Amino acid sequence: MKCAKCGENLTRRLQGGVNVDACPACGSLWVLDKNFAELRAARDRFVRWLNPDLWSEIEKHEIGEGTRLCPACGEHLHEVRYAESDIVIDICRRCRGIWLQRGELDKIIAYLEGIVDHQTVTDYLKSVGHEAAGLLSHRDKIMGEVKNLEILMKLLEYRIISRFPALSRIASKLPPV
Ligand SMILES: [Zn+2]
Ligand SMILES: [Zn+2]
Repeated sequence: MKCAKCGENLTRRLQGGVNVDACPACGSLWVLDKNFAELRAARDRFVRWLNPDLWSEIEKHEIGEGTRLCPACGEHLHEVRYAESDIVIDICRRCRGIWLQRGELDKIIAYLEGIVDHQTVTDYLKSVGHEAAGLLSHRDKIMGEVKNLEILMKLLEYRIISRFPALSRIASKLPPV
C-alpha cells in the first residue's frame, strides 16, 4: 500500500501490540477501526474505555470528502472531526480504516485524557452508554455495580475520586491490583 500523503510504500509494523501500516517517510499511520481502540489503549490504558463512535455519528462529524485516497481501496478518504474535538482525521467508510498523520494519535490521546480530567466525565460516560456511568451515578450502591475492577482503578488513578468521595471508602477495601 502507498502512503495517502506522500506516496511512499507503507510498511507493516507492530505498534503497542497492534498491526499498523506506517509511512517511513512522513510518519502517517493507517489503522483499521477494529484495532484503533487497542492502539489508543497501548498509549494510555484508560482511554480504551472512552470510546467515541466515529461511524454511527459520521454525518454529525463529517466535514466532507477529502482529496486523499484510501491506501487500501482507492476511494476518497472522508475528513471527520474526532468526536467533539477539533482534531480532523481521515477515514475510509468502506474499509473502516483510519488515516492518521504524524502527531494525530498524540492529539487524540491528549483529547481523551482531557475528558477524563474534566468535570463532565460522568456525562460523557453516560453519553457513550458506558457501564462506568452507572458506577459513578449510583455511588451508594457502588459495590453492586462494579463489574470491572480495572475501570474503577483507572478512575481512581485519574483522581476522579476527589469528586466522588464514596469511591475512596470503597477503594480502601479493594485488594491491590
Ligand atoms: Zn507518507
Ligand atoms: Zn478504503
